Order: sequence, then C-alpha cells, then structure tokens
Amino acid sequence: MTELSPSEIAANLACVRDRIAAAARQAGRLPQDVTLVAVSKTHPAAAVAAAVAAGQTVFGENRVQEAAGKFLPLRAANPRLRLHIIGGLQTNKAREAVRVADVIETLDRPRLADALEDAIAREGRAPDLLVQVNVGDEAQKSGIPRAGADAFIETCQARFGAALTGLMCIPPLDADPAAHFAWLAGCAARHGLRVVSMGMSADYETAIAQGATHVRLGSAIFGTRPA
Ligand SMILES: *Cc1c(COP(=O)(O)O)cnc(C)c1O
Repeated sequence: MTELSPSEIAANLACVRDRIAAAARQAGRLPQDVTLVAVSKTHPAAAVAAAVAAGQTVFGENRVQEAAGKFLPLRAANPRLRLHIIGGLQTNKAREAVRVADVIETLDRPRLADALEDAIAREGRAPDLLVQVNVGDEAQKSGIPRAGADAFIETCQARFGAALTGLMCIPPLDADPAAHFAWLAGCAARHGLRVVSMGMSADYETAIAQGATHVRLGSAIFGTRPA
C-alpha cells in the first residue's frame, strides 16, 4: 500500500468538505455544525501534516501510543490541532489517553469510567468524553448495550459533569445505518448532550441527515489502510 500524496489528500479533503456541507444543507442544518474528524490511524505523520497544510485541525486515532508519537510533535508546532481517541481503550492506557487527548470517544464501561476519573484527578486535566453505545447490540463490538445506555450515561454525567459532552456509535455493517443513527441522536437529545459522533467514509451523509455533529472519516481522506 502506498500513501497518498499531499495534493491527493488535499483534494480528498476538499471533496469531503463539499459533501458534508451539501448533506448538512439538505438536512436543513448549517455546514459548520458538522465537525470533520480526520481519522489518521496507521498513516504516517507526513499524511497528517499534509492534512494540516490543507486546513484540517481535528484528527482521530485508535491507539493512544500511536497518537502520542504522531501528535505531540505536530501539536507543539500547531497548537490548534485537536486529537480524538476513537479506539477501544484499555484501563491501563487511561492515564496516557487523558494526557494526550482532547476528546475520548470510547467511554464504554464502568471500569473505564473508574480509570478515567482517577486519571483526570491525577493529571489535573479533563478531555471531553463521549459514551460509546453498541447500537446494534453486537457481541463482537464494544460499547454499552442499548438497554444499559440511559443508566450508564446518567452515572457518567453525575461523575464527569460538563466533560461528558455526547455519544458515539459504530452501527452494524450489514444493516441500514439510518435507524441506528436516529436512535443515537434521540438518546443524546434525551440526556441534553450536544455531541453526536457517527458516520464513517461509507455512511457519513446518512449520519448527517440523522443529526451527526461529528463524522469520522479515514479512507475517504487518506486512502485505504492495510488490513
Ligand atoms: C477507522 C475508524 C473510522 C474511519 O473509518 P473509514 O471507514 O476509513 O472512514 C471511524 N471511526 C472509528 C471508530 C474507526 O475505528
């Protein structure tokens, strides 16, 4: 697999931004109400630098270690960069995640809430947090099951206060995602949460139609990843 050139990354970003704006307008929303999270996992720092040069500031990474290695030097030069952790988080990585992330999108179980609360106290720094909901109740996927979501969200709001800003999901691959997206947006509204992170390269326009405030796009910007 070869990495895309900086001009290909810039062209992909322009295309994606146009499509996000069009989908937002179509849904009667404003383009600036949808934040593009550029998912740079597995891609080198040079790919991130190309996206930054093309005006992108918000990035998503799956692994804390990889994110720290890539983003701490980039952020030293570009203080406006924002890093979202979007991959499953082990409790023993909570402290480093709190240190490097601006947003942790994958708060998905009580033990992780314990670890994050402890890490936030020790680091004296609180990233924004999203509760990940397993909207398809799939055995192989992380996320709090639908049935437990309301109770878990309420305990997280009580523990983390305003740092708990929203919800995130990855719907089942083999189903129409629209109903799952609609469910997540409704759940966020019920709890007074403003951030709804949903939609990837294959389905972000559907997600925007259902109320996504953040879409997470990797391959549409940086090209395909190794399996
Ligand atoms: C990899 C990943 C994405 C981006 O996926 P693409 O299909 O490449 O856009 C979005 N969200 C999460 C949680 C991911 O792991």
